[in-house]
Amino acid sequence: MSRIRQQNVLAAQWTPDGAALGTPDLTVADNQIFGENVFSQAVQRQRLPKDVYKRLSQTLAKGEALDTTLADAVALAMKEWALEKGATHYAHVFQPLTGLTAEKHDSFYAPTGEGTALASFSGKELIQAEPDASSFPTGGIRATFEARGYTAWDPTSPAFILENPNGALLCIPTAFVSWTGEALDHKIPLLRSMDALSRSASRALKLFGKDVGRVFTTVGPEQEYFLIDEQYYFERPDLVITGRTLFGAKPPKGQELDDHYFGSIPERVLACMLEAERELARLGIPIKTRHNEVAPAQYEIAPIFENSNVGSDHQQLTMQVLQNVARRYGLVCLLHEKPFAGINGSGKHNNWSMGTDEGENLLDPGDTPHENLQFLFFCTAVIQAVNRHQGLLRASIASAGQDHRLGANEAPPAIISIFLGDELEKLFGAIEAGTAGQSTPESFLGLGTPVLPPLPMHGGDRNRTSPFAFTGNKFEFRALGSSMSLGLPNTVLNTIVAEAIDELASELESTLATGGTLEDALRPIIQRSYAANKQIVFGGDGYSDDWHDEAARRGLLNLRATPDALPYLIDPHTIAAFEAYGVLNERELHARYEVFLEQYVTKLNIEAETAAALARTMLLPAAVRYKTELLAAEEPELASETGERIASFLEVIRALERVNLKENHPEDDPLEHARYMHDVVFPAMGAVREVADRLEKEVADDLWPLPKYSEILFIK
Ligand code: ADP
Ligand code: MG
Repeated sequence: MSRIRQQNVLAAQWTPDGAALGTPDLTVADNQIFGENVFSQAVQRQRLPKDVYKRLSQTLAKGEALDTTLADAVALAMKEWALEKGATHYAHVFQPLTGLTAEKHDSFYAPTGEGTALASFSGKELIQAEPDASSFPTGGIRATFEARGYTAWDPTSPAFILENPNGALLCIPTAFVSWTGEALDHKIPLLRSMDALSRSASRALKLFGKDVGRVFTTVGPEQEYFLIDEQYYFERPDLVITGRTLFGAKPPKGQELDDHYFGSIPERVLACMLEAERELARLGIPIKTRHNEVAPAQYEIAPIFENSNVGSDHQQLTMQVLQNVARRYGLVCLLHEKPFAGINGSGKHNNWSMGTDEGENLLDPGDTPHENLQFLFFCTAVIQAVNRHQGLLRASIASAGQDHRLGANEAPPAIISIFLGDELEKLFGAIEAGTAGQSTPESFLGLGTPVLPPLPMHGGDRNRTSPFAFTGNKFEFRALGSSMSLGLPNTVLNTIVAEAIDELASELESTLATGGTLEDALRPIIQRSYAANKQIVFGGDGYSDDWHDEAARRGLLNLRATPDALPYLIDPHTIAAFEAYGVLNERELHARYEVFLEQYVTKLNIEAETAAALARTMLLPAAVRYKTELLAAEEPELASETGERIASFLEVIRALERVNLKENHPEDDPLEHARYMHDVVFPAMGAVREVADRLEKEVADDLWPLPKYSEILFIK
């Protein structure tokens, strides 16, 4: 998309209104149905009494609490709209710390006592509900305080209708909070971080002569996923239970041929995608691109970006719709980060930027010297933030699934670094060296002429191995896992960048107070910040071994696995920044740390138990049967070969069972427990797999009980 068109769309994105609909890339048919299941601003304008609509908009713009009469009026209009759409129930939808979406359905209808039922839905029910939430992870927050939590309507993310062949459901996006006001979900901190960034960026923009109402952060996620035939899925208990295959020998044909990437999309898959996209369009989610990915049976879907809150809600919905629609085509959508060993895993590219309520993208280099200065200011802030909080950024994307991917030469390394591109890196280098104005780029800080060389928006020089890349007018955080919620990584980005913007803005304010031009004041600030933080900037191959050595020399963090990364959630720097900006307090951070550790342990434990059970009850018997057949066929040599393999199989299975015995787990210390799972249990699973995968290649095909990679991945 050209920069200008991008900006037009940008302007349309801020509101949860269906106005995003300026979407030039949707087909005509999509445009007609776009947003039809959304209680958008357009619908509100049409259905709410004029004064109610006006009061609602004003309340939202000011970020104030809604009074009950207003809520009642909105609830009435929402209910009527939903009933017309065939809804019988409503649900408060929220995002607990599991990273999944949760919802509790309530009927609109209540019996009247006269044998009939009346549909009712009050403002109170719209605004607040109390889910039976005792089973959601809270990291101890609710145990020590009130035992209850409640969901609260988020009017900045539009309500929508979810259809089912047998009915429809009004979904109300909500935040999930404890009675003492602590965030139990991913939405609240995200909203708080957006406010924080808005305050800092608006303050900084004043120094550039701009008075803006609000600055929004934006997100456009590129989602990777696999589609496989459901028959194979249901024949693989490991996939059903853990989301990934715990066994499976490398097929003779893997992804070596590279023939899948951007290849033509198989018909059944395309039909499924088209239906999913139609459904997403009706939900007001502006899908823009689809294509094959590198691995066989792997695909990607990406929407046009939206503000972080709406974009994040939409991303949860996108994952849900992909999974639902796939089933209608006899397919299963796998969102796990690493469903197949030896085949690329799936990630999510988190395109991120900041823009004003007037649609100006603050990471767009612009065409005039003044715009360029402003861009350099915000870009410097991002570099400073990412360098200072590299560990926290890495922690924000840590999970059991991610441990297979990060650093595995298919995904960015576990080392966080920034790719700026040649031109921009040279420019910062020149500013730092104080040579700008003399050498390349010649006219930096010169007057009257554009100071920045044109930066390529697209193109071959784009570095695909960098975890955090500048791509023309946004940063792309490429290290997210495919199944993750966007909440935490964007909360972290917003908060740490808000902090850096404020620091730079303070410096700039005090320098400007002593007189002089903006250029003169800014130059030394960028110079200092870049010199202090440029260790994070790396333009080379992030997959190479050289980079690991070089990163170690630079003192960059290399947090390989989840237990290495998660402690950065409660690092003193993290707590200081998050408390200063009111995003998460120390207890809320601790709660997340504990929940994520616990999830990690639980996931690996389920995998280990599943692996041991499958090995013992499916694979071992197959091998034994094969040996019996060989003996019956009077093939003693082959039988004894198989017999030896069986013996070593049994040995590794027993070892896995032993290390995963409950009494062997160090359960008292959650971090130590996570480390144990990573260092001891995980390798024991690997050892079982190694022998199993050999057996798969040796045992007669008709006896092998699990569908093989060659079937799962290549039959479409
Ligand atoms: P590419 O495919 O080359 O990475 P695109 O322009 O297609 O680049 O963008 C990829 C993703 O980045 C899309 O989801 C898009 O909406 C998103 N994106 C573009 N501009 C922004 C922005 N200013 N803020 C956040 N996301 C953006
Ligand atoms: Mg991209």
